[in-house]
Parts: sequence; structure tokens; C-alpha cells
Amino acid sequence: MKTRRDFLQKLAAAGLALPVLSTMAKGSAMPILDTTPYDGPMLRVAIMGLGGYGSRVAEAMQDCKKARITGVISGTPSKIKDWQKKYNIPEKNCYNYSNFDAIKDNPDIDAVYVITPNALHREQVIRVAKAGKHAICEKPMALNAAEAQEMVDACKKANVKLLIGYRMHLEPKTLEIIRLRKEGKFGKILFFQGLSGFRIGDPTQWRLNKQLAGGGSMMDIGIYSVNGARYMVGEEPVWVTAQETKTDPVKFKDGVDETIQFQLGFPSGAVASCLSTYAMNNLDSFFLDGEKGFAELKPATGYGPIEGRTSFGELNFPHVTHQTVQMDEMAEMILNGKQPVVPMDGAEGLKDMKIIDAIYQAAKTGKKVPLSR
Ligand code: NAD
Repeated sequence: MKTRRDFLQKLAAAGLALPVLSTMAKGSAMPILDTTPYDGPMLRVAIMGLGGYGSRVAEAMQDCKKARITGVISGTPSKIKDWQKKYNIPEKNCYNYSNFDAIKDNPDIDAVYVITPNALHREQVIRVAKAGKHAICEKPMALNAAEAQEMVDACKKANVKLLIGYRMHLEPKTLEIIRLRKEGKFGKILFFQGLSGFRIGDPTQWRLNKQLAGGGSMMDIGIYSVNGARYMVGEEPVWVTAQETKTDPVKFKDGVDETIQFQLGFPSGAVASCLSTYAMNNLDSFFLDGEKGFAELKPATGYGPIEGRTSFGELNFPHVTHQTVQMDEMAEMILNGKQPVVPMDGAEGLKDMKIIDAIYQAAKTGKKVPLSR
């Protein structure tokens, strides 16, 4: 895996570090790789759910300057032991799903990053908030908008922050397109296309279990096109239409969507046409069209490198490990109240859940579903 450390070493070896970094910083609010030493406060994070993505986040956090892993929450004692050894985590900072409320008395932990199956997010985030700790939650933040609202309310009541793992909101090429769009470089925005999909394997995994996933491809991968449509167009949709197709009803049971095509309408008149699927590979691209130009990201949301270009040329920002940048930036958001260019809070996650609810309703009824602003 390419890490921030590898990247910096390569730049340093090529004598390129400073020129490249200062070019990146010019005129944009994007997070940049900062090579200066840091001795400020660290966000001390406990990871909840030591699975595939939790492991990726933990690995990437080894290169963070402002965040570090100080605790774990898991139902599997052997995994806890492995992580303790790998990340030097003391016994007193290890919890399971029954006893983690005791985290409230642990001064070594500022925030808990919930990286478990979707259906568990609501209860786990609410318990984290009740323990007085900040919550970082993976996407989709919940199974529906009602749950998401409960989580937002619980964190507000407990006076803790709630952030959602929208790593693309900090990706340099994505942010450059947003900057150019805000500057009017593409003119009036007319159209967005988002393609999000992959062919899912093992039919027994939780992602294909309605109880744990809350749906199918839309909850897992289609959410990238929902969220992307909003940050690329720069508006909130006012209506949704959607159509569902299913070729394998054995693998994709009732309530688990295999493929959904959906369309969004925006107040300016711009429209989006998107595809969410668990049945096709090679689908990870965004295209934004305006009266004066276009922008394209392909791949748009994978772990990178993200590739992008506009009608004015290629986007040449160096790859940064998304999860390293995310956790350093989240430390700034939690500890210093920093505001990202595109919000990453619970209210942002709730907006996506409202749209996903409407997409499912539109697919089921065949009707155009209005969205309140
Ligand atoms: P995973 O199956 O690899 O890991 C899930 C973990 O949760 C496992 O360690 C498992 O033991 C644990 N778990 C706890 N209770 C469980 C239960 N009742 N049933 C099943 N597992 C249980 O999944 P993952 O890929 O790590 O996904 C976890 C979350 O992270 C999901 O919400 C997913 O959407 C999100 N995710 C986000 C990204 C991203 O790029 N932001 C990428 C992958 C996954």
C-alpha cells in the first residue's frame, strides 16, 4: 500500500517536496501534505470494528500527525490481541461491544470511529455520544433518515461532534473541481453523471443481508454517486426518480438492491443521472458538464490514485492516502473546530440518507419523489 511516508520519501529523494507542496497550496483550501514537525494536541481514537476497512484506517493512521489509535472495541478477543501488539494499545483501552460504555471514564480516548456493519451504526454512535466521546461514523451513517436524525440529535444533546467518513471530501482533485466550479469556470452547471458499482462476491457476507446492510448496492456504493452529485453540482436536489433491475433474485434477496438507476433534479434546472450496482465492474466515474466546460473523475471514489481532468487540462495533484488525510483533518475539526470545504458532519450524512430513502421510494412506486429543502 502506498503511504504518505512513501510519498514524502519519494518527493524528498527527487528533491521535489517543497515546490510541489507549495503549488498544491496555491489558491485552494484543500488539505495539503504538511512536512513541518508537529507538537500540538493529538486526537486519540478508539476504533470500533476491526474488519477490512477498520484495518485500512488503522494502517493509514500510522502516518497521521494529529491523530493516533489509543483504543479498540471488538467482539473478537484474538483480534484485540493482534491489534494491541501491532499498535501498542494497553489492556485498559480495550473493550468489547457489551462493556464499551465504560469508555466514558477513560481519559486516553477522545473519539470513537465506528466501522461496523451499517445496521449497528445508530446504536453504537448513540452509546458513544452518551459516554461523552466524539463519534466518527462510516458511511452510510444509518439505515435511513429517521435513524440518522436520532444520531444527530444524540450527539447534539451530549455536546459531542459527529463526523462521517466521507474521505472524498478531502481528496485534492475533487476539491480542485469544486473550487473551479465555485469560481464559475464551468459556467452554469447543466448535468452530472455518477457511476458507482462493482461485482460483489461471497453471497453470505453482511453486505447482502438486509438486516445488517439496510439495503444493497445503494447503501454501500451508490451513496458515492448520491453524495458526489451534491458536491459536484453544488446544490441540494429537489426531486428524485429511480428504477430498479434485478437479474439474480437468489443472491439479491428482497430489500437488497442489485442495480438502481436514479435521477436527481436540482433547483437551477441541472439534472443528475446515476447508476448504483453490485452486478458490474469498472464503474467508478463522475462527469460534470457546464455551459463553459466539463470536469471528469475516473476513478472518482476508489482508494486512489484518483484521476481527473477538466476541459482546461489534466489535474495533476499527487496521490495522498485518503484515510491518513481524513484522520488528520478530522483531528483539526474535532480539536480546533476547523470547517472542511464540503461538510463532513452528521447533518451532511443525514442529507444523503433522506435522498436514499427517496430513491428507494421512487424505485418502489415508479413515481417522482419530491425532496424538501
Ligand atoms: P467488514 O465485514 O470487513 O468488517 C466489519 C467488522 O464489524 C468486522 O470486524 C466484524 O467482526 C464486525 N462486526 C461487529 N458486529 C458484527 C455483526 N453483528 N455482524 C457482522 N460483523 C460484525 O466490513 P467493512 O468493509 O470494514 O465495513 C464496515 C463499515 O465501513 C461499513 O459501514 C462500510 O460501509 C464502511 N466502509 C467504508 C469505506 C470507505 O471507503 N469509507 C470502505 C469500506 C467500508
